[in-house]
Amino acid sequence: MLPENMRELSKEFDILAIEKKWQSRWEEKGLYHFNWKDRTRPSFSIDTPPPYPSGDFHMGNLLNWTYFDILARYKRMNGFNVHFPQGWDCHGLGIEVQVEKEDGVKKREMPPDKFRQLCEKLVKKYIAIMKEGIMRLGCSNDWTTEYRTMDPDYWRRTQLSFILLYKKGFMYQGTHPVNWCPRCETAIADAEVDYEQHDGTLHYLKFAVENSDEYLRIATTRPELIPACVAVAVHPEDTRFFKYKNKRLGVPETKRTVPLILDNTVDPSFGTGVVMICTYGDKADVKIVIRHKLPVIIILTENGRINQNGGKYAGLTSLEARKAIVADLAKDGLLEKTEKIKQEIGLCDRCDSSVEILELRQWFMKTRELTDRVEKAANQVLWYPDYMKVRLIDWARSLDWDWVISRQRVFGTPIPIWYCKKCNETILAEENWVPIDPKTEKPRITQCPKCGSSEFVPELDVFDTWMDSSISCAVHAGWPDSKDWKRLFPADVHPSGIDIIRTWAYYLMVRHLALFDEAPYKSCLINGMVLGADGRKMSKSLKNYVATPLVLDKRGADAARQWAAGGGTTGSDIPFRWPDVEYSWRFLIKLWNASGFVSKLLADYTGDRKTKQVLQPLDKWVLSKCERLTGKVTDALEKCQFNLALEELRNFTWHTFCDCYLEAVKDRLYNPEVYGQEKRKAAQHTLYVVLERVLKLLAPIIPHVTEEIFQTLYGDEKNPQSIHVSPWPTTDEKLMDEEAEKQGDMEVAIIAEVRREKAEKHLPLNSKIAKLTIYAGEKITAEMIKQGQVDIAGTCKAAGILVLSEKGKGREVKPYDIRFVAEYLK
Ligand SMILES: [Zn+2]
Ligand SMILES: [Zn+2]
Repeated sequence: MLPENMRELSKEFDILAIEKKWQSRWEEKGLYHFNWKDRTRPSFSIDTPPPYPSGDFHMGNLLNWTYFDILARYKRMNGFNVHFPQGWDCHGLGIEVQVEKEDGVKKREMPPDKFRQLCEKLVKKYIAIMKEGIMRLGCSNDWTTEYRTMDPDYWRRTQLSFILLYKKGFMYQGTHPVNWCPRCETAIADAEVDYEQHDGTLHYLKFAVENSDEYLRIATTRPELIPACVAVAVHPEDTRFFKYKNKRLGVPETKRTVPLILDNTVDPSFGTGVVMICTYGDKADVKIVIRHKLPVIIILTENGRINQNGGKYAGLTSLEARKAIVADLAKDGLLEKTEKIKQEIGLCDRCDSSVEILELRQWFMKTRELTDRVEKAANQVLWYPDYMKVRLIDWARSLDWDWVISRQRVFGTPIPIWYCKKCNETILAEENWVPIDPKTEKPRITQCPKCGSSEFVPELDVFDTWMDSSISCAVHAGWPDSKDWKRLFPADVHPSGIDIIRTWAYYLMVRHLALFDEAPYKSCLINGMVLGADGRKMSKSLKNYVATPLVLDKRGADAARQWAAGGGTTGSDIPFRWPDVEYSWRFLIKLWNASGFVSKLLADYTGDRKTKQVLQPLDKWVLSKCERLTGKVTDALEKCQFNLALEELRNFTWHTFCDCYLEAVKDRLYNPEVYGQEKRKAAQHTLYVVLERVLKLLAPIIPHVTEEIFQTLYGDEKNPQSIHVSPWPTTDEKLMDEEAEKQGDMEVAIIAEVRREKAEKHLPLNSKIAKLTIYAGEKITAEMIKQGQVDIAGTCKAAGILVLSEKGKGREVKPYDIRFVAEYLK
């Protein structure tokens, strides 16, 4: 339905006011709510990552949310019932560390529930900041779905999933080496360890060969672990050590001897070719200890100090112990020399402390036995871009240990387990007991099923945060409460950052495969990292950090979204550059001004069918190009190639539509007495159709400005319909006209050439030309030029046009190049 009269767009362009207005109207209308009752439209489910509240909706977040919001809006316009939930992944070490810092407290020194309250308070503050960021970006989330993993109602889901997996045999408790952060005093997963190159010192030490006066030289970077040395190893084919086979060696500064063992993994070229095996210096030690069934001497306490097994060094920190033992070795003549080396060390990704390997009782999930199925599922998932699936498969294949799911923390979902005080039997909560905190509630049984005792002790550990968030696909779909949850499961798309494929994408995969025997997502959309303008990773310490509110305050969400969509190919790292935002901003102004101009030109356009419209070559030209554009943009968005879609759209809108077409038809629109109503109406019709098409194609990327223009120019005041639920345009093959495109390209090229000449002669663009002579050639025939002479003459202000089929003098018309031509048409 066309409006009686098109309303004019305001001259004033206040982007921040426009954005704010539509954000609240969309929210009031509930425009983006998933409609559970609607079964006619197909559904499209997005597994929105519940972000970890950091108190900063940073440029990386802005990039993520822009990606999947574009997808949500595109799918909605394509007739899908889009499910776009939003939750918050609250628990974790980061919050505990931050509370200790901000409140000046130590979690070990205060009651756990007090500490937990401080964590919850901080999380709520952080969520408010991030939620504002998401809303200001204009994301079309369904806020009725909002959830927080720290709420008992979410505990219930995490705990239930644990109970089910326990019953299926996937959960076990074991004493096993784990990555341990001595500062945070908790076990951490492989994915939470960052490896970095550091300067280290290699100490060359002498180990006495038993019953001889010989020594073997050993090079180590961790002499403080000597009291935990359980063997010395060489490569089995290293001939230098054949004669020491079956010998034992004295461990310096202790009274113990250890065996010399042969192991293929020892590198004969590192150090002296002899290594000491300690429990535990690194992961290689763990593997050798298991392979050779060596004893374990635990030497570190949970806060990183040497324990009683360290003898005289007990009580010292690792570093203090290292100094002390090196001094003793030197005094006893057992330290031969030291040298500086570069070494790779593992750091806690939350606090950057050196990670140790401790052997502790922990809860594990059997994840390694799922590796083949993870690989199979990863190959069935559609990846954007495709090569990203290798990251998931490689990570799954690289894992040495099962996933350690217990954490020695306060702020986490409790593990629903008790132990019988008398016989140590494990008591698992029943499915209908959850949510439950075993620290404050007893198991709902009167006696131990094994020994009859009625005394129980709670499990004090909590779950790893990823235990909460790695069931998001099922939870978003409504599991376990909705009977209908398979309707939204598996998720149609799981968006993930390149840096969290090894955690989020991986944990989701193993949890859902184990729980439901089904992959949790059908496709995976990957975004890269945001770099600073200098091309390095954006960080406050590198002084290349740009805060999101600064960008949103200065140029608004629609400019920021264009930066995100257009910054690079999907999955690649993209730099944040102000000029990109400024260019995007200028594009919005161009779109606004052009739309305002069109609204004036169409003030008397009603679209009635009584007046016939006779499309001119330039009308057919721009209509055909518009159809082609529709096809290209649709294709790019289907493949999540946001940058290609935006590039096509901006080039077409800016140059083809505004600079060329709009300029070229002005004369026809202003002078109906010269051209006749039918041709004028054809130009109006074309403007009407093309602008509406451009607005719709731009809407997923630029939601606010397109909505404002669409509602003003195309909206029905009594029955307003948002552009975001209007149907996505489809390509009309009938309007694609190669001949018309060739013809129009030629006309635009001639117009540009005439204007170029005027500019060179310092004549105003509207200066009159008495006679314009155009010489035709082989490719551009006189017939073609004649067809377009109405628009050419009008635009160039030429009183007469003479077309000759002969070689002539003057300027040669340059081949059509839209950006080149457009320069002269402005
Ligand atoms: Zn730490
Ligand atoms: Zn018992």
